[in-house]
Parts: sequence; structure tokens; C-alpha cells
Amino acid sequence: MHDSYELQQETASDTEVFDAIILGAGVSGLVAASVLLRQDNARVAVVDEYETIGGNHIDWSAKGYTFDVGSLIFQDDSPLLKHFPELLEHYIHIDPTWGRLTPQRKVTHYPISIADDILRAGPLVICRIALSVIHARLWRRRLRNAKDFATFWIGAYLLKRSGLENYMARFYGMPPEHIDLELAEKRMMWIKEHSSLRSLLRKMTQKKPPHMQNKQLARPREGYAALYEPAKRGLSENGVAFMLGTSISKVEKEEEQFIVVPAKGKQIASRRLISTVPINIVHRLCGLSQEKPLKTITLISLYFSFSGERGFAQSILYNFSYEAAWKRLTIYSDFYGLTDGREYFAVEVVTNETITSIELAEAEFRAHVAKNGLFTGDLRLEGGQALENAYPIYTHGAPAEAERQIERLKQFGIESFGRHGAFNYQPTARVSTLEAERALGYRHPEPASHPAPREQHDNRLGLISCESG
Ligand SMILES: Cc1cc2nc3c(=O)[nH]c(=O)nc-3n(C[C@H](O)[C@H](O)[C@H](O)COP(=O)(O)OP(=O)(O)OC[C@H]3O[C@@H](n4cnc5c(N)ncnc54)[C@H](O)[C@@H]3O)c2cc1C
Repeated sequence: MHDSYELQQETASDTEVFDAIILGAGVSGLVAASVLLRQDNARVAVVDEYETIGGNHIDWSAKGYTFDVGSLIFQDDSPLLKHFPELLEHYIHIDPTWGRLTPQRKVTHYPISIADDILRAGPLVICRIALSVIHARLWRRRLRNAKDFATFWIGAYLLKRSGLENYMARFYGMPPEHIDLELAEKRMMWIKEHSSLRSLLRKMTQKKPPHMQNKQLARPREGYAALYEPAKRGLSENGVAFMLGTSISKVEKEEEQFIVVPAKGKQIASRRLISTVPINIVHRLCGLSQEKPLKTITLISLYFSFSGERGFAQSILYNFSYEAAWKRLTIYSDFYGLTDGREYFAVEVVTNETITSIELAEAEFRAHVAKNGLFTGDLRLEGGQALENAYPIYTHGAPAEAERQIERLKQFGIESFGRHGAFNYQPTARVSTLEAERALGYRHPEPASHPAPREQHDNRLGLISCESG
């Protein structure tokens, strides 16, 4: 605090000086601001190119329909609520159910159904699954990538037959044999945990899935602005300055001070720069050379309204079939009610060499669901949008390269963390919160009796580890 006062004396009057500048007003940036306030009562500026806070928590509304870019589901025990308890009353409670479209054109349990994928498949298929698992375990090769990892645990036959291999390719934007093993080991523990003999036996004998202890939540119908506005108000009242809708031209470093220069308006300066924006972007802004830019996925969201027979009961459906680039759809009318008697839902499509536009993604989705007997009736596209830098792409060596680049930023004086800043597939706001706290060395002053976090209940949201996004 004292340092910044001195700096303020030295800096030109058109440059406002802060104790810290945070790039990005997503969950990571907001938690960072909250932590810095709590730790040092620091004077913080948060800069984002979006007009609103919340980062990739983005909704899209038209004609009374209200969609999200993805399947965005939250929990009432999220550590984010320790920073912003005022959010809780704005969420709505939901009771989502998850299903998956299999290569056999059936909608069944997500991520795997012992009954449909194994027991009801007939003796021949059961024998092939068993032989394939035995083969994978006995002739174990050195595990080199995500496909080797999954094959070792469930065998090549079930990996293919269940559609998991195709879903992995959709999810990560490349075939599993090109996905880094380190990521597989970190993110795909789910497969290992569920394919032990003990776990399989438990599943076969268990009638109902364990009851969730935490409540599942979605944003208010009005959108994310209504959810995050109270958090912004609280931070602003404590002195945090928000520079939203700000396009940054460059970041300069003069001696030990960073100067953030926006395309329009006043520049700001600080000795401390925290970045939660993509690593490639912060390199460009700082004029740092980057030998290997890190690759990310662009996600297209298609927004449909529908009247007719959708062909399944679940509110969230994953595409495990062998075809089409769409990976998941979420029926928002199950959460918010029908609009003009119509259901409405968002479809997430990972772009690839052939699906490069909203039009192509829509055409392929329509053809695919028709072929699978889904959405028989009046299906209308209400809108769509493309989200760049939605997920990191973990080709061989990418995590190690990201680590090197983060270390280089650190040497330059920039603390880089968050979903983009750490090039880390942070699946939930919960994980982003914990990671931001860890990066800043923050621990909540907890009462001894505080209950342990119930992390496992995010697992229902995602296939691999606790993937949600
Ligand atoms: C499709 C999808 C579905 C998801 N589903 C869920 C879910 O169900 N539940 C859940 O809890 N989490 C979900 N997540 C994950 C969750 O959103 C993330 O963990 C968390 O929001 C990441 O926050 P962040 O602040 O690190 O990144 P972001 O939210 O991406 O924020 C980064 C910010 O940086 C800003 N920025 C980028 N470039 C610049 C620039 N040049 N100048 C200024 N600002 C810039 C962006 O505008 C953005 O606001 C999902 C994510 C996605 C993409």
C-alpha cells in the first residue's frame, strides 16, 4: 500500500496507480480481487474486454427464450460463495438429469450404463468386452496417450462400442491418441475409479445412484448480469475499480511497474499484474515472443426452440455416437419453463476442419438428430454464437509447454492463473475458485467445524474427472 502511494507521486497524472491490476473479470479474476481485498485491503483494478463480469458465463436471450453458451450448472456448496455469498439467493434450484446418445442410437445413462452397455448387449458382446479388457491388462504397453490410458482400463472394444472414444475426440478436439497422457491421468481418473472390479460389482448390485447432498443451481432467468451484479457492487464498494468493455492495446513494463494501455481512455499502472486471460494474449499484449502459441478450441453454441416429441427425458444429453461434431445439449426449458408452449435448448459444437460456422453446425445437428429419431417436430434455430478460446487443446507436450510459458511470464513479473492463465481445463467455478486461492496463497479463516467440500457431486456434470464445460 505504501509503495503504491509513493508511485502515485511519481507517475504522470493521467495514469491511475493501483496495488494490483487483474486482467479478466471471470471467476478467477473476481476471486483474485476478493482475495487481494481480504489479504491486504489492496487497491485493485479489474480490466475486461467484455461489458459484463463473469467471464465465460455467458447467456443469450431472444423472444423470451434464454440460453447459456454451454451447460452451466453450479452448486450451493461452491467455495465461490464464500467470496460472494450474495450470489446464492439469485440462483434458481434445478433438478437436472444426464443422458447420452449411444452409437446404437439409444439414449441411456451417462457416462456409462452397465445394464445397456454390457449386460443387455448379449453374451457375445459381454465375452468380447471381457476378452478385450483381459488383453489390455495382460499385454500392457507403455501408456503414451489418453487412448492408451482408457484402453488399459476398459479395453479397446468397450471404448469403441460405448462411444467414449468418439466423445473424447469431440471433447478435446482431436483423437484420444493425440491427447497428452498427463492430462488423461489427471482428468480421466473417473475411468480408472469406475472400472475396478469392486466398482463394477457395486454398480451392478446398486439400485439407485447415491443421493446428491448438494443442490444444483442455474443462473436466474434474467441472465448472468443479474447474478453477478451484486458481486460487482460489493467489490466496487470496497474500492475495486472495474474497467469493463475495455480493449487493451498493450502492456508496458517500465522498471518494476506495469502500465496497461487501453485502446481508449486512461492508462493504469501497478507493480503487480495478475493475468487470467489466455497466455497467448498476454504474450502479445506485453510484446513477448512466443515460439509455440498454445492451441485452444472454438466452441459454437446453437440455440433452438422446439415443439414436438424430443425423444428423451433427460435435461442434458451427451453425444457419444460415432457421428457429428455436437457434444452436448441442454434443455433450458426444463429449468425455466416453456416459452409460448415451446421447449428450448442450447447445443455445444466443437469446431473442426469441416464444421467451421454456425450454418454448418446447424445443418449437421439437424441431420444427425433426425437420423437418431430425436426432435421430431418443429425445430427452429433462434440464434447462435462462437466462443473463441473455450478450452485448451492438450496435444502431446502442450501442458509442459504451457508450464514453461507461465514460468516465463512469472520471470517477467506476471502472475498467470485461471482457466486460460494456467492453460488448465478448469471444469467448474469451484475449481477456478480453489485454484485462484491457491495461486495467491489464500486460506479462508474457517471455523474448525466447517464441513469438508463435497467435490464428488460435481462429477455428475462431466465425463472426465469432474468435467463440466
Ligand atoms: C462451455 C462451458 C461450460 C462450462 N460449464 C460449467 C458449469 O456447468 N459449471 C461451472 O461451475 N463451470 C463451468 N464452466 C467452467 C467455468 O466457466 C470456468 O471454470 C470458470 O468460469 C473460469 O473462469 P476464468 O475466470 O478462469 O476464465 P473466464 O471465465 O474465461 O474469464 C476470462 C476473462 O478474460 C477476459 N479476456 C480475455 N481476453 C482479454 C483481453 N484481451 N483483454 C481483457 N480481457 C480479456 C474474458 O473476456 C473473460 O471475461 C464452463 C465453461 C465453459 C467454457
